[in-house]
Amino acid sequence: MNTPTPFDLTGRRALVTGSSRGIGHALADGLASAGASVVLHGLDPHRLELTRKVFAERFGEERVEAIAFDVTDEDSVARGIAHIEEKLGELDILVNNAGIQHRVPLLDLAVEDWNRVISTDLTSAFLVGREVARRMLPRGRGKIVNIGSVQSDLARPTIGAYTAAKGGLRNLTRAMTAEWAAAGLQINAVAPGYIHTEMTQALVDDPEFNTWICKRTPAARWGTVQDLMGPVQWLASDASAYVNGQTIFIDGGMTAVV
Ligand code: NDP
Repeated sequence: MNTPTPFDLTGRRALVTGSSRGIGHALADGLASAGASVVLHGLDPHRLELTRKVFAERFGEERVEAIAFDVTDEDSVARGIAHIEEKLGELDILVNNAGIQHRVPLLDLAVEDWNRVISTDLTSAFLVGREVARRMLPRGRGKIVNIGSVQSDLARPTIGAYTAAKGGLRNLTRAMTAEWAAAGLQINAVAPGYIHTEMTQALVDDPEFNTWICKRTPAARWGTVQDLMGPVQWLASDASAYVNGQTIFIDGGMTAVV
């Protein structure tokens, strides 16, 4: 007989926003591998359906659902979360992962682009988190994991809006904790370093940037999506029952060393 471990997620349901590709895809895979049922999510329904099929083959149709909605739109978020909770079942875990990048110096940054990045990378976590917490709070339990970045702590030229959003997300994690932890919710953040995905492919292909990353990172390499799975499984599970309001940097030591 297998002894259950506190990391086991069997019987839990997790929504991972932006899981149609990239980091979110890997995080949903990690949660499903630990036993959870997953609700996949994205904006493009076609890409989402392709991802759902991949997951259904791997984990079985009964453990995989998918829903598309815009995380920046309050009404769409409300409808999406209501659909999940009423038609698919109660959410135990929310991973706020959906995000975008926009690279341009601050002096050239249009306010429309600033607003787009802030709403996708920060306001989205408030909107989805609030809607999910409205259901989790009366149940007295729930896990929320916000996906930050090394830019939750450090700045870099040309990504001012992203840096502001990810820094805000770190403090939103604390604000959610201040208001919801006493009712049994744990809200934490994972802050990945430079991870090789579609979002960063141009940087990986840039020899100068690639060399800088490998020199600047104590672990001397880009991160992989697999590097993020264990920490998110842990924060989504009972194994982290007394971890509240923290941002865990998964960055090969980048934010620990100058
Ligand atoms: P990708 O561009 O690969 O994927 C983004 C995901 O978010 C997609 O599923 C996309 O859906 C979804 N999405 C974007 N905007 C919306 C929206 N308005 N409504 C609903 N879904 C949306 O990104 P990554 O996997 O690289 O990044 C994921 C997260 O990790 C982000 O928060 C990012 O900031 C963070 N991060 C990434 C790092 C990296 O090195 N890549 C490093 C540190 C943090 P669709 O497919 O339909 O467009």
